[in-house]
Amino acid sequence: MALIVQKFGGSSVADAVCIRRVAARVLETRRRGHQVVVIVSAMGDTTDDLIALARQITAMPSDREMDMLMATGEQVSVAMLAMALHALGAEAVSLTGPQAGIFTDGMHRKAKIMGIKPQRIWKHVKAGQIVIVAGFQGQTPTNDIATLGRGGSDTTAVALAAALKADRCQIFTDVEGVYSADPRIVRNARKLDEIAYDEMLELASLGAKVLMARSVEFAKKYGVELEVLSSFSKAPGTIVKEEVKSMEDIVVRGVSADKDQAKITLGGVPDRPGVAARLFKDLAGAGLNIDMIVQNISARGMADISFTVSEDDLAKARRVIQSAARGVQARAVNVDTDIAKVSIVGVGMRGHSGVAFLMFKTLAERGINILMISTSEIKISVIVRKRLANKAMIALHKAFCLDKPGSTRTTPPNRLVRRPR
Ligand code: ADP
Ligand code: ASP
Ligand code: MG
Repeated sequence: MALIVQKFGGSSVADAVCIRRVAARVLETRRRGHQVVVIVSAMGDTTDDLIALARQITAMPSDREMDMLMATGEQVSVAMLAMALHALGAEAVSLTGPQAGIFTDGMHRKAKIMGIKPQRIWKHVKAGQIVIVAGFQGQTPTNDIATLGRGGSDTTAVALAAALKADRCQIFTDVEGVYSADPRIVRNARKLDEIAYDEMLELASLGAKVLMARSVEFAKKYGVELEVLSSFSKAPGTIVKEEVKSMEDIVVRGVSADKDQAKITLGGVPDRPGVAARLFKDLAGAGLNIDMIVQNISARGMADISFTVSEDDLAKARRVIQSAARGVQARAVNVDTDIAKVSIVGVGMRGHSGVAFLMFKTLAERGINILMISTSEIKISVIVRKRLANKAMIALHKAFCLDKPGSTRTTPPNRLVRRPR
């Protein structure tokens, strides 16, 4: 008998028919003799709808009240799934995040799981019940309810799988696994049989929302092997796991685009030690995640500094940076939301040269201008105009032969040179 954690996302529980389908799938696992802990997201677009509802009241709702509101979405779906399982004659119990013993920090709307006390879950599991836990939520040190950031049910699932030392963690979604690119944008994207934690982490952080990045961090940290698969079919999914040597044969594993980005530029910043530290101290103090940072060459003692933030954080970042800009006597603050970040990711990049050249050449041939560039050992990201993001993804997917199983499985595109080991 194994302990299996199964997570079902919003589209998998979008209506009563879907919920019955999920109940049947969970019960199938239970009837094979396994213990099952299920995590569910809110039904369909419920979370978006709740956010829109709050906006009808105020443009700046308090984060605490937003969490109170958003957490109701998952409470509906856990109860519905428990009822569907009861209707099939199964023993099941639904729990909120706090009831399940999930403890977070106090950072509303993007809380981090600080610990899990799974005693109550164990009690129900040992009694033979299927336990259904509300994803995306936990309890703060002041006994309030907090949510974990959009897509947070993935993190609930992986964190619970780690805390319960589950034998398997399955993430059921509306596509058949992790693909070489978003299959809704790149028609000939291919399903990957396997992907390394680090590759998945980069893809997820760079816009591939099939998994929340933080869930992949947890999986890597605690060695939880994830299986991403469809709740609508029985096709085998993708395994997200520890990197093995053979993975380096593939130069680029996937392409992603993040269109929820904004660029902030501070013009005419005095070019002296401590200025960047001052600016980014204030941003960090406000809990803002800053990405690509570019400082141009200083002219007459003045420089321009640009960086990107997610659009969700833009209003807050703008407020913080405007006051910081006055502090360092910067001349101007400009915001550009017409941008997207397009990235290629693969652990095989470490062993090959010419990858950046092929990326930039491909974009140039399509007339796509690059506004900013950043790289790490296993990824290259560029900022382009938003309307060109899909075109860029499709072009890069083709240039790196990600649509052809033979060429990407074993050999890199022939224009790339393998570095001697
Ligand atoms: P869930 O509601 O199950 O959590 P999400 O909508 O959060 O599902 O994530 C699944 C979606 O992620 C897919 O429908 C797909 O459009 C998108 N996606 C983006 N990039 C990828 C990728 N590389 N592989 C698979 N799906 C991707
Ligand atoms: N319902 C939440 C969201 O839409 C959490 C999740 O789906 O994972 O972001
Ligand atoms: Mg999701």
